[in-house]
This record gives sequence, C-alpha cells and structure tokens, in this order.
Amino acid sequence: MSVEKIDTLIVGGGQAGLALSEHLSKRGVPHLILERHRIAERWRSERWDSLVANGPAWHDRFPGMEFSNFDPDAFASKEHIADYFVSYARWIAAPVRCRVEVKDVRRKIGGPGFRVETSEGLVEANNVIAATGPFQRPLIPALIPKDAGFLQMHSNAYRNPDQLPEGSVLVVGAGSSGVQIADELMRAGRRTYLSVGPHNRPPRSYRGLDFVWWLGVLGKWEAQHVEKGKEHVTIAVSGANGGQTVDFRRLADAGMTLVGMTTTFKDGVLTFAPDLADNIAMGDADFLSVLDEADAYAIRNGLDLPQDPEARQIGPDPACMTDPIRELDLTAAKVTTILWATGYQVDFGWLNVDTFDENGQPKHQRGISEEPGIYFLGLPWLSRRGSSFIWGVWHDAKFLADQIVTQRSYLAHHHSPLRKNVTSRT
Ligand SMILES: Cc1cc2nc3c(=O)[nH]c(=O)nc-3n(C[C@H](O)[C@H](O)[C@H](O)COP(=O)(O)OP(=O)(O)OC[C@H]3O[C@@H](n4cnc5c(N)ncnc54)[C@H](O)[C@@H]3O)c2cc1C
Repeated sequence: MSVEKIDTLIVGGGQAGLALSEHLSKRGVPHLILERHRIAERWRSERWDSLVANGPAWHDRFPGMEFSNFDPDAFASKEHIADYFVSYARWIAAPVRCRVEVKDVRRKIGGPGFRVETSEGLVEANNVIAATGPFQRPLIPALIPKDAGFLQMHSNAYRNPDQLPEGSVLVVGAGSSGVQIADELMRAGRRTYLSVGPHNRPPRSYRGLDFVWWLGVLGKWEAQHVEKGKEHVTIAVSGANGGQTVDFRRLADAGMTLVGMTTTFKDGVLTFAPDLADNIAMGDADFLSVLDEADAYAIRNGLDLPQDPEARQIGPDPACMTDPIRELDLTAAKVTTILWATGYQVDFGWLNVDTFDENGQPKHQRGISEEPGIYFLGLPWLSRRGSSFIWGVWHDAKFLADQIVTQRSYLAHHHSPLRKNVTSRT
C-alpha cells in the first residue's frame, strides 16, 4: 500500500485549520489539511438556519481579509461565514483535501513521526495538528430517559421552529445558543420555557460601541484563565435581529417563562433549582461591571463618547422571577420538546497518542501537547479567552506555526552534515 508523506498534517478544515495553514505557508512548512466534509462545515450544517455571528463583521474575521459586500457593523449569517472561509482558503491557496476523514493517528513504530490512517489511505507526518473544533460532541445531561415521551434535541441539531412537533418547548441552557433559540421559538408563537443558569450578559453596545470593542480594549479577550469559580458561567450574547443586549426581563415580558437550573426528573415532572433570581442578579452585576469598566476606560483615555444612562436601567423583575416555578409537569404544560443548549464535549477518539488525562481532556500548553509533534488548535481557552473564536484562533495558529518551525530547525540541525563532521571528530 502506498503511503503519502507530508511534514505537517492538519486535521480539520475549519477556521483553525485554515489559520494555521496560512501561517505555515508563510514560513515555508509543507503541509496538508484533511477535512472530512467541506471547508467550515460546522458553520454550514451544524448550526440553526437563522444563526448570525455574535460579533459584527469588522471583528469576527481574520485580520487579512474583510467580508466582501457586507456592512462591517452587521452580523454575518452562518452561510456568509462559511463562504468567507471558502474564499479565504482560496486566497491563501490552502492545501485542503475535503471528504477525507482521519480515523487514527499513532506514533510510528521504529521511526519518527506519526502513522495516520484516513478514509483514503495512509499518510505519514512529522507533526499532526488537531484542529477539529472547540465544540465536537453535543453534550446532553443524563436527566430525562430517552423513552420518556418527549423529543429531546441538542442545539446542534436544531434548525428552525417548524422542525419541532406542535406544543411548548423547554430550552435548557441560557448561553448564546439557548437564549437565541428560545427567543426564536417564542417569536414563532411557541410557549417557551427557558432554564437559566449562571451567565454573563455584556451589553450589545454601550456609548455607541459594540461590546466586542469594549472587551477588546479592556483586555478581556486576552484573559488567560477562567476566573476561579466561574468555570461554568456561560456568556449570553446575540447578533440576531440586528444585535440586541440579552435581557431576560424583556424576554419574560414578551411571554417567555424563565426557570432556574434544571435539576431532576421524576414521573414526568422536572424540578428546577431555586437559583433563577441569583443567576439573573449575577448576569446584571456582570453587565453593570462592564459599563463601569467602560466608563473608567473612557475617562482614562479621554474618549469623547456619547453618554448612555439608559443602558443602566434594569426593569422590574417579572412574576416568573419573583415567584419562580420549581416543578413542571411536562405533559400538563404541553411540553413536547426539550431542547438542550448545554454545550459540547471533545472527542479525540481518533488520536491515539499519550497526551490525554483520565477524563480524556487533552494535556497541552498553549496547544503544544505532551507528545512531541502533536498540537491542538481552536480549543476553548487554548491560550486565552478568544482562542475558540474566529479572531482569536488566528493568533494561536501563529504561535503554533512558530513552534513547528522551531522544532523543524532543531531537527534540521540534528540531520545536518556539519553536525555529523563534528560528532565524527569527537
Ligand atoms: C452556535 C455557535 C455559534 C458561534 N458563533 C460564533 C461567532 O459568532 N463568532 C465566533 O468567533 N465564534 C463563534 N463560535 C465559535 C467558533 O468560532 C466555531 O465553533 C468554529 O466553528 C470553530 O472553528 P474550528 O475550525 O476551531 O472548528 P470547526 O469549525 O468545528 O472545524 C473543525 C473541522 O474538523 C473537521 N473534522 C473533525 N474531525 C475530523 C476528522 N477526524 N477528520 C477530518 N476532519 C475532521 C470537521 O468536519 C470540521 O469541519 C460559535 C460556535 C457555536 C457552536
């Protein structure tokens, strides 16, 4: 069987794989990207129909290319984003081979590098980069048995309201996905319950500037560690409907029923934690702290920005907050669908190398794994808060390309004839 040889193999042709390809090409490193579907496939087929970027087009992009024919302050649709990456791949002449799945990677026996089994044959590579996404396998908590009589769907499989059976919907999880999907379902006339956990909800814009700008100048995208105790705090933002601040009270006023964290299920009845008001208060505190920090930044830097006192007005608590539902008989409430917007797990079943902890989590430092030659890219918090986002992964990719070049130069030294002369003389 013939074996294809390549210096560096990138697994995954999403934004992470393309960013690394750009940096490797600039540094003259021969490489290949294998993508099991199409470029930026997850944006095309693993997101709901109406999804738009959470950040404006001037921000949610790579530094080298703008979105063509698109208002930079608007929010690109998922198709626009996928098309952007296809154009980008063309622009940087990325060596992408689509419809090839990497099935197994392991260290070569009796030689350097890795043996890679793909759906199209064998490849040998000195370096392998896992760029297979921050959000790989949908995570549904084991709370409600599969045969309980309700449609249970992860946000990853949700497309639009028409896809769901008639009836009310409980959306579990109020991060950006959950809150946007719940809003869409409510606007489509569904009775909607939203289970709200701890969250941050930055203002969509403040004093005329989008929150992505404020988080940027305040250095928050560069934060290197999740604050202690905030590991499970999600961020609720939305570019939908032109981009609006996520405001749970406004959603409740429009007819959504907010509930606390979903905790148990027994005999058709779901129980919710008594934490709704606390979770919303925590989101408010985060919201106001961003405004405070923004004001302080504006003063310190002498920015002449319009005042925005209305931003600080927080409406009265709705009844579902002051007198929260603690138990819901799903059948009595006509709930037919439970939509889990509860996040994702990693899935590195194809990567059989020694760099995972007992929970299957990759062990790495800024993407450099414990197995020399294996790298990770695009994971949440790989090096900083922005790592899994479009603008952040590009910078992590640059760092990894540097590391790969450095390692190549060490190996080149090892193989150099000069070194052989030196060693033969000693
Ligand atoms: C709902 C949602 C909304 C988001 N919105 C934004 C946003 O507005 N702005 C922003 O900056 N970020 C956003 N993100 C985060 C992030 O930008 C995306 O998740 C993005 O898709 C990550 O890109 P990636 O290249 O790291 O991974 P992916 O896009 O997941 O790409 C990985 C690729 O690897 C391929 N692959 C996997 N396994 C194999 C294998 N074994 N062999 C070959 N190929 C393989 C997959 O097919 C996939 O194409 C959002 C995420 C989600 C879930």
